[in-house]
Amino acid sequence: MGVQTEIELDQELRDVVIIGSGPAGLTAAVYCARANLVPLVLEGELSSTGDQPGGQLMLTTEVENYPGFPDGVLGPVLMAQMRAQAERFGAQLVASKATRVKLQSGGPHTVWFRDPSSGEELEVGARAVIVATGARSLMLGLPKERELLGHGVSTCATCDGFFFRGQHIAVIGGGDSALEEAVFLSRFAESVTVVHRRGDLRASKIMQDRALANPKVKFAWHSVVAEVLGDLKVEGLKLRDVKSGAESVLPVTGVFIAIGHAPNTDLLREQVVLDPEGYVVTQSGTTATSVDGVFAAGDLSDRRYRQAVTAAGSGCMAAIDVERWLEEH
Ligand code: NAP
Repeated sequence: MGVQTEIELDQELRDVVIIGSGPAGLTAAVYCARANLVPLVLEGELSSTGDQPGGQLMLTTEVENYPGFPDGVLGPVLMAQMRAQAERFGAQLVASKATRVKLQSGGPHTVWFRDPSSGEELEVGARAVIVATGARSLMLGLPKERELLGHGVSTCATCDGFFFRGQHIAVIGGGDSALEEAVFLSRFAESVTVVHRRGDLRASKIMQDRALANPKVKFAWHSVVAEVLGDLKVEGLKLRDVKSGAESVLPVTGVFIAIGHAPNTDLLREQVVLDPEGYVVTQSGTTATSVDGVFAAGDLSDRRYRQAVTAAGSGCMAAIDVERWLEEH
């Protein structure tokens, strides 16, 4: 955080403040910085509730599908490189979380955050704001679950399925995500057991038909995960039958948690239009939100793709949207 002392945190009105430092926030920072907008980036703070500066890639090991890295790259290394790239062009990064915002159409907007050294609350004014606070996968809340993320526990089949070639794995959940992941993972794995807490699937009929017809996909009905087994990597799951209470061990080397996602948009409640599940609603084909001069990039407005590269792409879009918006205003 060497640059922090040189940043005037209580500086008057900035052209743009970026909230969030995942692929969306940092790509927006690279583009805004190269456009001489000197963005202030509130990177966030590590917290026990799952907040993570750098975003979800910080919880990933090998990333093999980010273009430009033919041999793969570790998630935290990729984020460190994006961060360095943003700093190189003059983005000012602060290891602090936005605590509240006041967004008004046309601006200026106000963002409050804690001074990382004193803890004192500071405010900054901004003509434009890019919100890129991401989303989080819902987790079961078991002790080993977070510890073994990237070591057999995963929240993204598209990202990690390839690593489980020929192995026996499990998917937790009974919705569309769980069944889509199970069918996708069956291309690599020897078997995929869908562990679902009820006897009826929540997923759409078409996804149910596809999963039920797949010979590699099996089901553990009325079952919950009582424990993730293994110390350095996943070695199995202890399942509990919710009807009988009987416990059994499912010998798997991988477990994909697919019980839903939640966007990190608490900060924006009652400020910009969110959909019923809390995702930011953007104007079609742009990153503009319901508030003029406030833009959203990345997973907080994307329930469909949720990839690092799509988040980075929308960060670039947000920066270009800001640049044009500032020119017009
Ligand atoms: P979802 O529909 O909310 O399903 C979550 C599943 O996880 C449910 O089966 C739920 O069980 C289970 N679950 C939740 N908390 C749990 C816990 N603590 N322990 C064990 N199980 C738990 O979420 P989703 O599957 O991510 O889908 C979200 C939305 O995106 C849906 O509208 C879905 O249709 C859509 N989507 C669509 C597609 C597609 O069309 N290709 C693909 C993915 C997602 P219960 O059923 O018992 O509640």
